[in-house]
Amino acid sequence: MQRCQKSNRRYGLPRREFLKYTAAVSAIPHLGLRAGDPVTIQPRFGGNPFRLGVASGDPEPDGIVLWTRLATEPTVPETMPQEIIKTRWEVATDESFGNVVQSGTALALPQLGHSVHVEVAGLKPHHWYFYRFHAGSETSPVGRTRTAPAKNAMPDRMRFAFTSCQHYESGFFNGYPHMQKEDLDLVIHLGDYIYEYAGQDKRPRKHIGGEIVGLNDYRTRYAQYRLDQTLQETHRLFPWLVTWDDHEFDNNYADLVSEQDGVSPEEFLARRMNAYQAYYEFMPLRRRSFPQGPHMTLYRRCQFGRLANFHVLDTRQYRTDQPNGDHQKPMTGKVFDTTATMLGEKQEHWLMANLLKSTSTWNVLAQQVMMAPLNRGEGDQRRYSMDQWPGYEISRRRLLKFFHERSIPNPVVLTGDIHLNWVNDLQLDFQDPKSPTVGTELVGTAMTSGGNGGNQIPEYERAAAQNDFVRWYNSNRGYVSCELTPKMWTTDFRATPFVDKPGSPILTPASFVITQGRPGAEKS
Ligand code: FE
Ligand code: CA
Repeated sequence: MQRCQKSNRRYGLPRREFLKYTAAVSAIPHLGLRAGDPVTIQPRFGGNPFRLGVASGDPEPDGIVLWTRLATEPTVPETMPQEIIKTRWEVATDESFGNVVQSGTALALPQLGHSVHVEVAGLKPHHWYFYRFHAGSETSPVGRTRTAPAKNAMPDRMRFAFTSCQHYESGFFNGYPHMQKEDLDLVIHLGDYIYEYAGQDKRPRKHIGGEIVGLNDYRTRYAQYRLDQTLQETHRLFPWLVTWDDHEFDNNYADLVSEQDGVSPEEFLARRMNAYQAYYEFMPLRRRSFPQGPHMTLYRRCQFGRLANFHVLDTRQYRTDQPNGDHQKPMTGKVFDTTATMLGEKQEHWLMANLLKSTSTWNVLAQQVMMAPLNRGEGDQRRYSMDQWPGYEISRRRLLKFFHERSIPNPVVLTGDIHLNWVNDLQLDFQDPKSPTVGTELVGTAMTSGGNGGNQIPEYERAAAQNDFVRWYNSNRGYVSCELTPKMWTTDFRATPFVDKPGSPILTPASFVITQGRPGAEKS
């Protein structure tokens, strides 16, 4: 009985649900590519097929993923001929392609919306490169990218920016033009890259169509976002390391549980398959992340020599359902369920094994939801977000205890999701003010979600005052810029005073430093 239950609980489902689940998965159509399918070499596009631009990502010391997607009318799927199109790609050391170091061909498949993912290898570590694609007689914009340093190298410094939560209707991506002017090795996106909601009037911008459910709905949504030139240009200029949060699929989903009640597992999985496939199609991801029906392995590592090790996490796909319902509750009952999990067993073991093996000074967790247990209640009434790590208290404690007991060097947790900046000491036991700080949490604000922001919000003013581990908070929109050296981590919080129209200036309301060997950030 025990064994049977165990095998059936592979996806966290009881037996009856598991059988429904396997039936739902087997009904998912195969990509349907056949060996004899004709390949078009001289396509006639009737328009620019590179309107979605180019992108690169997942840097390694010897290579990078190059991305494009052929579409003459990107927000209208299936306007492209339903045939396989051969593309060519080139990588050069100069912007005018006088010194091409690699080139090749790649197929753009209609089954994948004519997206192209090329994994280039054999490049030099820590070098800038330029790349472009050709299809028929058309040539893409020239992208710029950079490989990671050699695994055993200790670079003097690296710089990256991170952001999240770019709800299109809430405003303009005013942080990106400023991010483009920074000298960055990498851009990290922590999720809510799109929002799934229906278009609404009387907002700065409007989504095309209703709530997205089908594959073409998700494709149109990604295309609409990527046609924003500030976003597209930032992809063109830097390699990105991306992960998703909930809105790439459905608000506050957990494992196989939808936000709305009454959604059957079959419907839920079919929609999740569409969401995951569109995400893969639009992001510069490696083949290791290729979706398998409604599953997609997005957690992975990206190492910058012995300076920094980025562990990119997925806190949505494998978590158990939020305890006590979503929203804010006291920490009681199921919060302390020992079988509840935020990462799932496999990802958690992977993370811990990699942290133990890490030879890097800074060990970064690039993830979605806030880890510090922020009490938002008034007076004796304690309230915590059940969608964040405090809703999974045993998982949270286990990870922080692991940082402490295994002396993981300089853990820094990067967080998105909540549309505010926070700087938090991650304490081993938050109920004991004298408990050691075992890591640092930097929470990035939204690029647009939540609108202009910037007012003093009473709930958060109170939370900042009553939670001892909070060093700073801010309610502007923007992004976060970090510079890492072997001795010091400097964080500049960048704020855009408005997003309801384009062209905001950029401010740096605060900078914090973390000293190597001493967890916790200090205002500089
Ligand atoms: Fe968000
Ligand atoms: Ca979110």
